[in-house]
Amino acid sequence: MDTELRFLAGLAIDESARLIRATHRERNGRGYSLVSLLIQACERVSIEASSIAGQVPLADPAVGPSLERELYRLLDELKLVHLFLGMYAGDFGRNDLPVGLVHMVDALVRDLLPRGADPIIHLSPENMYSTLGVVEAAKQLWRLTPPPDPHPVGFNLPALNPENAMLAPILAHEVGHTAWRQGLDAQLNATADLTAASAHLRSAVVPGGPSAQHLAELFDSWRQELLCDALAAVLTGPSFLFASAVFLPVTTGGTPIGRHPFPRDRVAYTLRILGELGWTDFLQSNVPGVYQWCADLAGDVVLTGHPAETGLRAAIGVIEPAITALARSAATSPVLPGRLESNIAEFNELFYLEVPCTQWADSAITPWELLAAAWTCEIRRLGDTPEALRLTCYDEHLNAFMIKSVELAVILRLWTEA
Ligand SMILES: [Zn+2]
Repeated sequence: MDTELRFLAGLAIDESARLIRATHRERNGRGYSLVSLLIQACERVSIEASSIAGQVPLADPAVGPSLERELYRLLDELKLVHLFLGMYAGDFGRNDLPVGLVHMVDALVRDLLPRGADPIIHLSPENMYSTLGVVEAAKQLWRLTPPPDPHPVGFNLPALNPENAMLAPILAHEVGHTAWRQGLDAQLNATADLTAASAHLRSAVVPGGPSAQHLAELFDSWRQELLCDALAAVLTGPSFLFASAVFLPVTTGGTPIGRHPFPRDRVAYTLRILGELGWTDFLQSNVPGVYQWCADLAGDVVLTGHPAETGLRAAIGVIEPAITALARSAATSPVLPGRLESNIAEFNELFYLEVPCTQWADSAITPWELLAAAWTCEIRRLGDTPEALRLTCYDEHLNAFMIKSVELAVILRLWTEA
């Protein structure tokens, strides 16, 4: 037993040292908080393995098997460190991404995350946006190594078109999931009428349907999704309506009950939030065709009438005001209808000439103002039809132009602040 323990401890110590050496290239820049977390985890593993090796030869051979299990656990932890380093190796301190894209990610961190973040932009082979990669997987390391401040947050962008600025509102929704973990879940639980929601869920339990526990899990998932929608809608305004109409897509009718509310219910909710924020007049006067199409689809949700579906939708309905109120207080620097309304004519003139707009009145334009103005002007230019939504989203030239516009607007802001 003594020989095995020494052998395994030596492996853990050598592997820790090898992994720490592998981080030498990435000692500063964006994502360094994750690198430093991984180094700390290796150092801790090495200390624990040395301490086990120091107990050999064992005074009491009966403790041998538990020490062996402990060493295998430490080696598993190092596998996780290797996985992280391998997955994000190209993302630490990277400087190959368009500056405008990096600024958009920074703006999402600043405007949506109460505790901030050290953002790591990762181009993922999956054609989806998400921000949970690092957080979920690092939980195992954080249990033993205190999390760095600010937390590393991975921003997964689709590898083949990371520069799709028009879909940035979807990334805002995804950042919402990280905001949820940073404390918005607790805030919602404190203000929402969960008793009334529970009553609806109880009445939804019927023979042959989902269990009470499964319904509770679905409810938990739905309210998180709707809070993320609400944060994105408050922050990016009509852009979130347009982007989600394409991304969901809104035409999806009767989907089975899953971890997300039905697409048309989500768009209906987005329309209600935009209404509460004063966007309806803007939408009706600038893009009446697209607005009406979204409103018609949102009012025509395909339902089965199953008690689980009825109960879940009713339960979410009673906490909707609390979700909206929380999103309104949590999203800072949102796009505002009055400011867009008074500047959109001037924006449109420059937009038509392909001149980047960086300033309205005396202040630099935010990324969310730029997006809302561009979505609106381009939909109008293309005839205000559902087709215009799709064409706007997929226009590579427009997307590149928007990323460049964000970069220039940020340069102006930094220059005036300096
Ligand atoms: Zn989501």
